[in-house]
Amino acid sequence: MKNKETDILVIGAGPAGLIAAREAARRETGVMIVEEHAEIGHPCHCAGLLSIKGLEQLGLPNNEFYVQNKVKGARFFSPSGLSFTVEKQEEVACVVDRSLFDQYLANRAIESGAEILLNEKVESIKYAEDRVSVQTQKDRFTAKMVIDAEGVSSKIIKEVGLNPIKRSSYVPGIQYDLENVDIDAEYVEVHVGKKIAPGLFAWIIPLSARKARVGLGCKGANPKFLLDEFVRRRFNNAHITISEVRSGFVITGGPITRTFRDRFIVVGDAAGQVKPTTGGGVILGGICASIAGKVAAEAVASGDYSAYFLKQYENMWKNQLGAEFRTMLLARRILNRLSDQTLDKIFRIAVKENLQDLFSTNGDMDFQSTVLLKLFKKKEALEALPSLLRDAIQF
Ligand SMILES: Cc1cc2nc3c(=O)[nH]c(=O)nc-3n(C[C@H](O)[C@H](O)[C@H](O)COP(=O)(O)OP(=O)(O)OC[C@H]3O[C@@H](n4cnc5c(N)ncnc54)[C@H](O)[C@@H]3O)c2cc1C
Repeated sequence: MKNKETDILVIGAGPAGLIAAREAARRETGVMIVEEHAEIGHPCHCAGLLSIKGLEQLGLPNNEFYVQNKVKGARFFSPSGLSFTVEKQEEVACVVDRSLFDQYLANRAIESGAEILLNEKVESIKYAEDRVSVQTQKDRFTAKMVIDAEGVSSKIIKEVGLNPIKRSSYVPGIQYDLENVDIDAEYVEVHVGKKIAPGLFAWIIPLSARKARVGLGCKGANPKFLLDEFVRRRFNNAHITISEVRSGFVITGGPITRTFRDRFIVVGDAAGQVKPTTGGGVILGGICASIAGKVAAEAVASGDYSAYFLKQYENMWKNQLGAEFRTMLLARRILNRLSDQTLDKIFRIAVKENLQDLFSTNGDMDFQSTVLLKLFKKKEALEALPSLLRDAIQF
């Protein structure tokens, strides 16, 4: 068993860990990333839909080898099949191969000076007087501080005494890569409804006009059963083939209450830094990770690893994203309570009043609070109020 020393130890080589590592290593700080798996990006759980604006914000290109397709907008479908389209003139999102995307991020972290160690599953973490000691199955690491980017597993965070993501925030998700489908390659489809996917929605993310990533997240039901039903009803095509199956947990409960302590910062899915409306966590988690990397490097430079110093990380991400998370969480809670009849009614109002224009003009895949607040204030939304209240009472 070897003892390895570093300034910052990052646990987990997903997007959050790799982005935090890149930011810290750029600032001349010693950074090691430990990853339990043998290969970066594997196994992959993600659908890979990332906004172009979000990628830009993270300093990442939208024309690299990981991009499989680009889309202009989304078509939303109600339980009874009513639909409206939200779109922009130009492409708004990339569909990425998440394994390749993570490998790209790993290369950027290494170029900045970080070291990645694979097959290193962290088992325990202990505080010594002037460092943290991290035990993996193979080795021991000592670090001045830790960035925990372990994803949904939330084991390490409990060990250091912080409260992990609530169990009620977890939504099981499953998706297939399908071939021989007939779809519009420029638009994502989102299908909502208690019978389709209670607690989230079903998605069709085009890879081309004949290939798509089709999945759903749901609570209180069997995701595979509902996905098979959805695929059968949506495509009704005996020639469809499934080339890949992925599953994992989507987080929709918003961030955890505290994301730091002395010598320790938590980022990404482990911190619940995920959009509660959709479960997408790469961009907002990445923004938080970027802040974490900078603050951790400053802690090393100043030799101050106190909770008081590291609180700036939480202050900074909350200043930038706190209101976004709160508004999206409110929207998710309302959506979870709506009956299929109310959802249909909302879609009818949206189509009649051209609310899709409001979404198309003001919508932002990641920063959704502006459009959500505009929607909550619309007088047309009042038409749905009696149904909303009835659903809230019956829940
Ligand atoms: C079905 C599904 C579809 C999704 N689709 C999208 C989408 O389209 N767009 C989007 O933005 N988001 C999507 N997400 C969410 C997205 O995958 C996550 O938000 C994102 O991966 C979070 O990144 P992370 O780095 O925090 O965690 P992860 O990507 O989970 O990375 C955590 C890493 O830590 C490692 N690890 C865990 N424990 C240990 C340990 N003890 N020791 C060492 N290593 C450890 C893991 O192996 C993993 O590599 C989807 C999720 C699911 C489940």
